[in-house]
Amino acid sequence: MFVLVTNYLINMPSFVINEKCDGCKAQDKTACQYICPNDLMVLDKETNKAYNQAVDMCWECYSCVKICPNQAIEVRGYADFMPLGAVVQPLRSTDTIMWSVRFRNKQVKRFKFPIRTIPEGTLESNGGFSEGNADLKSQNLRTEPDSLGTDLFTK
Ligand code: SF4
Ligand code: SF4
Repeated sequence: MFVLVTNYLINMPSFVINEKCDGCKAQDKTACQYICPNDLMVLDKETNKAYNQAVDMCWECYSCVKICPNQAIEVRGYADFMPLGAVVQPLRSTDTIMWSVRFRNKQVKRFKFPIRTIPEGTLESNGGFSEGNADLKSQNLRTEPDSLGTDLFTK
């Protein structure tokens, strides 16, 4: 006999371990709020703990997990680098990231990778190119309007 299950929960969003979260010491914007591309993380001002306010919108990108200074956020590990039932936690330094995978049998494996090719804080925001016409509000961006073959409507 076969049972077809169609409506099962596949979303495993980020979750905050309250005991580890210190609300980023009550700064205006927490690290997880700053980094989330979907603006999902919020801080409960009463408890001073962060939480994911819209779990269905979380795409498990790991950004909040990697930036949290207290390792207070977890997301399920992807099946291509860890088996079912294991737990993974990344730890960033200025130039490396180390992934610790704890397996169901309590075995722990760690994998460390470089994440930068230049020292932190040395990146040039303009990529080394001159800024040219710095009027960023101008519509004359890149090669427009010539490349569009059209007149520019500014008013
Ligand atoms: S980044 Fe970590 S410590 Fe800071 S508020 Fe978010 S979960 Fe809490
Ligand atoms: S895993 Fe990504 S999308 Fe989900 S809450 Fe964290 S930063 Fe936002």
